[in-house]
Amino acid sequence: MTRAGIGYDLHRMAEGRKLILGGIELQFPKGPVGHSDGDALAHALCDALLGAAGLGDIGTHFPDTDPKWKNVSSLRFLERIRDLLAEGGFRIAHIDAIVITEKPKLGPHFPAMREALAKSLGIEKSAINLKAKTNEGVDAIGRGEAIAAQVIATLER
Ligand code: MG
Repeated sequence: MTRAGIGYDLHRMAEGRKLILGGIELQFPKGPVGHSDGDALAHALCDALLGAAGLGDIGTHFPDTDPKWKNVSSLRFLERIRDLLAEGGFRIAHIDAIVITEKPKLGPHFPAMREALAKSLGIEKSAINLKAKTNEGVDAIGRGEAIAAQVIATLER
């Protein structure tokens, strides 16, 4: 059986916050506001995986009202989901993602992101595809006030 799940996330960007994306830190003057590290790509990935497995969403599993998840690396979420998928008998076949941001340029950082995400999920880097888009200067993302990500995950059981 093959199942697909979709995930989306957006975080506001603020001066003086670390920019964590895809499990790595990028050098940039702004970063996402969030209860955890605000990693929009990792969060969208969590929702895609949980959705494909029929296990609800990231807010159910890692509520932002729980101090346990405050400032925690979102890679911990992925490690937990890896266990949930294994318990359900699921194998991750493929992940495809889009990160939408004007700056910084993401392409040069994709190998390190794929490495970090793949390690947390216990899969091969080749099972993760990352793509970058700008928003052509339009709306909050275009003005650099927010960063967003969309992910589709395919599972097999
Ligand atoms: Mg989020």
